[in-house]
Amino acid sequence: ELREMYDAVVLSFGSARDRPLGVPGSDTPGCYGAAEFVGWYNGHPDFCDLDPGLNTQAVCVVGVGNVAIDVARVLVKTPAEMAESDIMDYAAEAIRQAPITDVYIIGRRGPVQAKFTHKELREMGALEDCTALADPAQMPETIEEELSDRDRRLREKNLATLKSYAGNAPEPGKHKRVHFVFFAAPKEVLGETRVEGLRLERTRLEQGRALGTGETFDIPCGAVIAAIGYRPQVPDGVPLDEARGVVANQDGRVDEGLYVVGWAGRGPTGVIGTNKHDGDHATERIQAEITHGDKPGRSALEALLAGRGVRWVSFADWQRIDAAEVASAPPGAPRRKLVRIEDALGVLE
Ligand code: NAP
Repeated sequence: ELREMYDAVVLSFGSARDRPLGVPGSDTPGCYGAAEFVGWYNGHPDFCDLDPGLNTQAVCVVGVGNVAIDVARVLVKTPAEMAESDIMDYAAEAIRQAPITDVYIIGRRGPVQAKFTHKELREMGALEDCTALADPAQMPETIEEELSDRDRRLREKNLATLKSYAGNAPEPGKHKRVHFVFFAAPKEVLGETRVEGLRLERTRLEQGRALGTGETFDIPCGAVIAAIGYRPQVPDGVPLDEARGVVANQDGRVDEGLYVVGWAGRGPTGVIGTNKHDGDHATERIQAEITHGDKPGRSALEALLAGRGVRWVSFADWQRIDAAEVASAPPGAPRRKLVRIEDALGVLE
């Protein structure tokens, strides 16, 4: 319908759903994907009722990328360290009350293959109430892989930081620990009615790939959060490249007059800045490829929505909602989010 009304349509809906962990037990209550869990603490309307149940001492976070760090640090930071974030009040309170002492960040490959950026990794070593720990036996002496100079520098920095964590002992007076565990692939989420642990298989690396060794071990925990990447939620009619988990496209073009930008088209890697280039690129392509237009555009869309009785939010409406959130911010925080759609719409009445 949009393509009938507009000369160009740009899909920019991101990659908002979790890649499934896909091991036995991963549907046990207490096992979540990062999109769900991050959505819960960030107040995404789809996930604000997740109520993850954090009445546990230990949590396993699967994956060694920045999302795993995002999740782990929310669980181990003090309320004072979280004060300037825009975490939801209900999530901050649930985490404050939870008896969590140990968070495990689990990589199926080694420290050199971890995807953390250094700033995020380093921050885990400078927390008020948490010691970062790692196993010295898992730290290689040197980086053997063939890498570009840039990649080598990045990985050397990460490795040096992880080695410093491997030299740590739990600090007296600190109540929490974050453990970086490598060479461990999830085999099974344990527990009947709730998560009671995570069974892992030790791995070894062969040509960069993690191969199971057959040796397993269990980490008792009351929650498992899989931060192993995302996949897009694609509307009917939009072609999917199943293998890559993205909207099928060639250099950002899906079909005549149909383009895709950001994670939906490139896959779930990179930060906001990375995606800005996609926007520029799509604009250039649209300017070059669509030299004349005769479709009605917005007036037709507004008529269609009105005809169907759809409540929609204009940019000016959005600005009012934004201003209301900012105006009700607790001290130090950037905003207090209106999580439920009816509450956000309430601002406009
Ligand atoms: P990511 O960096 O690609 O990390 C995904 C992790 O999941 C990898 O360690 C991967 O291991 C692991 N993994 C995938 N499938 C697995 C499986 N079946 N079992 C066990 N482990 C598995 O992705 P992300 O953490 O979701 O982050 C997405 C992007 O957003 C990244 O580019 C990230 O830097 C960015 N981001 C940035 C920030 C920030 O700057 N503060 C915050 C959040 C996200 P393998 O390498 O072995 O596949």
